[in-house]
Amino acid sequence: MTKPRMIKHWINGKHWEDTPSRVGDVYDPTTGKVASQVAFASVSEVDAAVSSAAEAFASWRNASLAQRSTVMFKFRELLNDRKGELAEIVSAEHGKVVSDAGGEIQRALESVEYACGIPQLLKGGFSENASTRVDVYSIQQPVGVVGVISPFNFPAMVPLWFVPTAIACGNAVVLKPSEKDPSAAVFIAELFAEAGLPDGVLNVVHGDKVAVDRLLEHPTVKAISFVGSTPIARYVYETGTAHGKRVQALGGAKNHMVVLPDADLDLAADAAVSAGFGSAGERCMAISVVVAVGSVGDELVSKIKSRIADVKVGSGPSCEMGPLVTGVHRDKVTSYLDAGVAAGASLVVDGRDHPIDGDAEGFWLGPTLFDHVGTDMTIYTDEIFGPVLSVVRTESYDEAVEMVNSNRYGNGTAIFTNDGGAARRFQNEIEVGMVGVNVPIPVPVAYYSFGGWKESLFGDAHAYGPHGVHFFTRSKVVTSRWLDPSHGGVNLGFPQNT
Ligand code: NAD
Repeated sequence: MTKPRMIKHWINGKHWEDTPSRVGDVYDPTTGKVASQVAFASVSEVDAAVSSAAEAFASWRNASLAQRSTVMFKFRELLNDRKGELAEIVSAEHGKVVSDAGGEIQRALESVEYACGIPQLLKGGFSENASTRVDVYSIQQPVGVVGVISPFNFPAMVPLWFVPTAIACGNAVVLKPSEKDPSAAVFIAELFAEAGLPDGVLNVVHGDKVAVDRLLEHPTVKAISFVGSTPIARYVYETGTAHGKRVQALGGAKNHMVVLPDADLDLAADAAVSAGFGSAGERCMAISVVVAVGSVGDELVSKIKSRIADVKVGSGPSCEMGPLVTGVHRDKVTSYLDAGVAAGASLVVDGRDHPIDGDAEGFWLGPTLFDHVGTDMTIYTDEIFGPVLSVVRTESYDEAVEMVNSNRYGNGTAIFTNDGGAARRFQNEIEVGMVGVNVPIPVPVAYYSFGGWKESLFGDAHAYGPHGVHFFTRSKVVTSRWLDPSHGGVNLGFPQNT
C-alpha cells in the first residue's frame, strides 16, 4: 500500500522536512477515505516558526509601503490566476462543491485587494503648530509576530481575512489552519513566496491544541486572530490575553432570518434554502432559524419544503451541496434529527432520505427541515453546523426581536419585509453584529469589517477592513518642537522671533 501524502509545515520559506512525531488524517469527505496526512507541530516546531517570523519581522517592519503593496498586488494576480486550482484543493478536503469553493476564494480576493491599498490605509494625522512651533502627528506601526488560528469551514477565505492585512501592516505571521483541511494554507504560503514575500514573514504550522497553546503562551507572539467555535474562542481569548497579547476571537453562531407577513415569500424561501443549506450549513453566517411572524408560517414552510426537493446533493459537477467535513461531524449533526423529534418538533423533511449522487461511504446528510421548533429544544439552542433548518413561529415582530436578542449568539441576522420602516427599526433594535435586509447572508464587503456580538466575538476588534488595520498596528503619537534656526545661532535668513 502506498503511504498517504504528508502535508508539511511551511517555515522560513520552505517545507519543514523533519519527520513529525504526531500526524492527523485528512479525509476526502465525498468517499469517506483518508486522502492524506498532516503533520502535527510540536512545541519546538512552533518555536522554530515563531523564531523565523521574529527574524523576518526585524527587516519586514521597515520594508517600504511601496514594497509591501508590490508584494500584495503580485499575490493578488497569482491568486486570481490560480483560483481554480485553490478551489479544487478546498473542495477536496472540505467537501463543499467546487463552485462554492470558488465563491469563497472570490471573497478572499476582496480582502487581498483591500490590503493592496496599504499606503493609503496607514496614513496618519498631522497637526501643524499645535502649540507655537510644536507639531503633533501619529504613525501606525506593526505589532510584531502575530498568530492566526483558523477553522475548517473556510480554509482559504478565513486565513486571507487576516494574513494580507497583517503582513501589509508590517507584521510577520504564524498561521495555524484547521487540521481537517490544511492544504489551502500551504498553497497560499507558496503563492506569497512566489509573489516576493521574504522568507519567514508568513509561516504555516499544522496541528491541534499543542500548537495553539504554544502560540497563546509564546512571549514573542504579540497578537492572536482566532476564528472557530465559541468554547474554543473563549478559551483562546482568555488564555491569550492572560499572556499579555491582544486577541480577537470570533466564535460560533445561530443566525435567525425573520420573515414578516408582508415579505415576498418566494424570495424568502429561496434565501432560506441557499443560506441554510449552502456549504451543507457549515458556514458561520448560515441561516439556521427561520422566524415566521404572524400568518406566514404554513405557506413559507411549504415553499421551503418544495425547494428542498430540488437541491442536488452529491459530488458531481451539477451538485449544489456536498458532504459534511468528517464522519464524526456528520454523525453529530444527524443525532440532532432524533433529538428534535424527541423534543416534539415536526420533522417536515428528513435529510437522511434525500437522494445522494455520490459514493455511499461519503459523509452525506441531505437538507433537513423542522417546523414548530421551541426555543428550549437543543435543535434551537445548539449550533448544529450542518444542513438543519428550524422554523420557529411567533405572533408578532416584537416577539421575534425578543427571541433574537435573547439568543446567546449574535453573529448575523436578516429580516425579510417590504416595509422600509420595519427594516429600519429592526436594524436599530437587533443585538447582532451583521444585519441583512432582504439579504440572507450579510457578510460585509472587505472595506467594512466582519464581526458578531455577544458570544460570537470575544475582544473588540472585528475581522478585516478598518478594524483589521487597527488590530494589526500600534499607534504612536509624536509631539515635536523645532526652534527656528535663528535660535541655534546660524542665520539662514529667517526673521527673528517676535
Ligand atoms: P474549532 O473551534 O473546533 O477549531 C478552530 C481552530 O481551533 C482550529 O484551528 C482547531 O485546530 C483549533 N482547536 C480546536 N480545539 C482546540 C482546543 N481544545 N484548544 C485549542 N485549539 C483548538 O472550530 P471548527 O470546527 O474548525 O469550525 C467551525 C466553528 O467555527 C463553528 O462554530 C463556526 O460558527 C465557527 N466559525 C465562526 C466564524 C465567525 O466569523 N464568527 C467563521 C467561521 C467559522
